[in-house]
Amino acid sequence: MSDILFRNAEVDGRSGTDVLVVNGTIVAIGPDLRRSTAHSIDARGGALIPGLTDHHLHLHAMAADADSVRCGPPAVRNRTELATSLGRASARGGWIRGVGYIETVAGELDCASLDALYSASPVRIQHRSGAMWMLNSVAVQQVGLASADHPGIERTASGEPTGRLWRADDWLRTRLPSTGPPDLTEVSRTLDAFGITAVTDATPDLTPTSQQAIADAAGSGALRQRVHLLGSPIEGPRPPNVTVGPYKIVLADSDPPDLTELAALIEHIHRSGRAVAAHCVSRENLLILLLALDQVGAVPGDRIEHGALTPEESIPEIRRHGLTVVTQPGFLADRGDDYLRDVDPRDVGDLYRCRSLVDAAVPLALSSDAPYGPSDPWANIASAVRRRTATDAVVGPHETLSATAALAAYLAPADDPGGAPRTVHVGAPADLVLLRLPLGAALEEPSAEHVRMTLPHASDANP
Ligand SMILES: [Zn+2]
Repeated sequence: MSDILFRNAEVDGRSGTDVLVVNGTIVAIGPDLRRSTAHSIDARGGALIPGLTDHHLHLHAMAADADSVRCGPPAVRNRTELATSLGRASARGGWIRGVGYIETVAGELDCASLDALYSASPVRIQHRSGAMWMLNSVAVQQVGLASADHPGIERTASGEPTGRLWRADDWLRTRLPSTGPPDLTEVSRTLDAFGITAVTDATPDLTPTSQQAIADAAGSGALRQRVHLLGSPIEGPRPPNVTVGPYKIVLADSDPPDLTELAALIEHIHRSGRAVAAHCVSRENLLILLLALDQVGAVPGDRIEHGALTPEESIPEIRRHGLTVVTQPGFLADRGDDYLRDVDPRDVGDLYRCRSLVDAAVPLALSSDAPYGPSDPWANIASAVRRRTATDAVVGPHETLSATAALAAYLAPADDPGGAPRTVHVGAPADLVLLRLPLGAALEEPSAEHVRMTLPHASDANP
């Protein structure tokens, strides 16, 4: 990319600032910079800020999601709408992949109830939690569920598969028509439009194929964001073009882990030189995680993913272990009304805590968990500030963040979530977002609409 001179930008609150970028590095910041060879961009007073980092998302799932049938709210709210959506999708032929299902649409789905909605071609629908797939009879037959041996295959008392498949994505993939990992170009463009220049992929246990595909996309420029992987295997060679972070472990919501086994696993991961990123949604699992860390100790970089329910009394323990919490207040806008209906009223204050963690000096990073949560960081910042559900109820009014603090939780580098926000300074890589407005004005009504340009730009990808 040629040299770029941003003119009349707002940088660190100073308006009328010019920023000169040469060979992808910021080389000068000040009023009235000149450089005859530079491509000049009039910022028109808009803020120039560091690129955002989404500290927890799932790249391949995002790409697959974009190609899938919506099976949950807001697009689909009831049985009739679900049947219509599946019927429409069948026109494309082959397997139908549905996403976002929640029981409020048509109850607990198994293959019989799914057949009643659609039976002509194989259908698999993912539960909104990401933990379960539901297959219709044709699909059950095609993947050979009856004779298969996987602990995630739910069966009736007589041993017949119900069509429900728990945490068996890798197994299921081996039984589906092979299409290879989905292309990441469009995902990268979407992230680019949000001002995201770095992501942490939190997919656990990446297969060699998935890991290689992400590394290749990062190498070819199809994926312009820098990538930090949590699911890279403990053993084996490090992938090129990406960085490897803490090792992701999943404390399954449905099945609390054995304390001794969990402690041994964490110790093994720490000995391998990696910190741990523990998927922790339920209160029980958080408490078991903290007990395991009492036994084997924490290391710098250990982190809690989600922390969806954090009892107040565990906050000092989280702090004592030096854990970072990587959470998603965006779920409150998306699912807050479900939480208010389903979660014990005494626990509502424990949902997706933010401010109480910051006040207790627990490093806090924000993220989307896309495609399971809304991917737009600006919507997530707004959600951290307002904590409002779709029907405008407030979840945990004492947990709101200022918009500045919420943005800061998107500005720490991928290898230091919850750390100091990056800044625009001489010598820094030109990893920048130009907003249409000064920062204060943009944060009054956080929106991706304020993003005018992101560097490096996805559309500049190598041909
Ligand atoms: Zn996730």
